[in-house]
Amino acid sequence: MTCLKRLIFCKGAQMKVSRSFSAPSTSCRCFHAELVRHDSRGLPVVHHSDYVCDLPPNHRFPMGKFPRVFHFLLKDQVITEKQMWIPQIASRDLLSCVHTDEYLNNFINGTTNEQEQRRTGFPWSEGIVKRCRYETGGTVLAAEIALQRGLACSTAGGTHHAFPNFGSGFCLLNDLAVAAKFVMDSSSPRRKVLIVDLDVHQGDGTAFIFKEEPSVFTFSVHCGKNFPLRKQQSDLDVSVEDGLEDKEYLSTVEAHLPWLLETFRPDLVLYDAGVDPHWDDELGRLRLTDQGLYQRDLYVMKTVVGRGVPVAAVIGGGYSRDIDKLALRHSIVHRAAAQVWRESGM
Ligand SMILES: [Zn+2]
Repeated sequence: MTCLKRLIFCKGAQMKVSRSFSAPSTSCRCFHAELVRHDSRGLPVVHHSDYVCDLPPNHRFPMGKFPRVFHFLLKDQVITEKQMWIPQIASRDLLSCVHTDEYLNNFINGTTNEQEQRRTGFPWSEGIVKRCRYETGGTVLAAEIALQRGLACSTAGGTHHAFPNFGSGFCLLNDLAVAAKFVMDSSSPRRKVLIVDLDVHQGDGTAFIFKEEPSVFTFSVHCGKNFPLRKQQSDLDVSVEDGLEDKEYLSTVEAHLPWLLETFRPDLVLYDAGVDPHWDDELGRLRLTDQGLYQRDLYVMKTVVGRGVPVAAVIGGGYSRDIDKLALRHSIVHRAAAQVWRESGM
C-alpha cells in the first residue's frame, strides 16, 4: 500500500529540470574513498578486496562471489581497473545514523549472543565485521559518486534485512539505509531518496527504518511466499506469486517505476538489483532468465537516468553453489549500467 502522506508531501514539489552531472573531480577527498584511481570516462565501479571474509567450511552463504564479480567485469572488459573506486570502511559514527549504540557495540566487539548470531546466518568473526563495514562504505561511496556523475555501481551491498538493533537473513548492517540517511542529511534542504528494491525478498529492515521518514520512499517488489515470513510495510510493496516469468515481472516494474519517479521526485535512486528472482536461484521462487534480469536492470537504470535522476546500484541477493555462475549473474547489473552509461553519453 502506498503511504498517502508521502504522496501529499510531494505534491507541491517543483518540476525537476533534467540536470547535467558535474565533470568528475580530480580529487576524491570529499568522498568516502581511499585512492584516486578512477578513469573519468568510464562507469564508476566501487569494489574492495575486503568485501569478502572467511566462513566455516560448507557454509551456505556464497561469500566467494564478491571478488569473482569484479574478476569477471575485468576479464570480460566491461570495465578497466582504472574505473575501480575503493571505499573507506564505514565509521562507527556513520553507522550510528541507522543502528543503535548497543547493537553496534555488540556487533563490533563480538558480544552478540548465539541466538542473535543464528538469526543473521553467520557466526561472529572480526572478518565479518570488517567485510560488512567495507560493504556499507562501498554503498555510501557509490551514492556519493552517483550524485556527482549520474550513475555508479558497487560489487556488493543490498543488505536490506538488517534492522537498527539486530541483524537478520545474512544482513548485519543495512547499507542501503546508511547510504540513504547519509545522502539525505548531508545537504540542505534534505535530499529525497527512492529505494528500488527488486531482490526477491522483501526489504523489511529498510521498510522499518524509514516507515516514518518522508524523505525516503521504499519500493519493494518481492515474492510474497518468500522470506521474511512476517513482512514490514514499505511505502509501496508489490507482492508477486511464485513462478513469475520475465514478461510479467518486467510489466510489474514498468507499471510502477515511472509514476513513482514523477510523484516522489527523488534526488537519488538506490537500486537493489538482487539476482535471486532467477529461475536457478536456490532461495528464490520466481522464474526470471539472465536476459530477463538484464532487461530489468536496463529498464530501471535507463528510466531513472533518463529523468535526470542519479542512480547507485548494489548487487543484492543471489544464491548458488556454483560461485562463478552466480558471480556472472550478479555482473548483469554492471553490464546493463555500462550500456546505460554509453548510450546516455555520461
Ligand atoms: Zn534476497
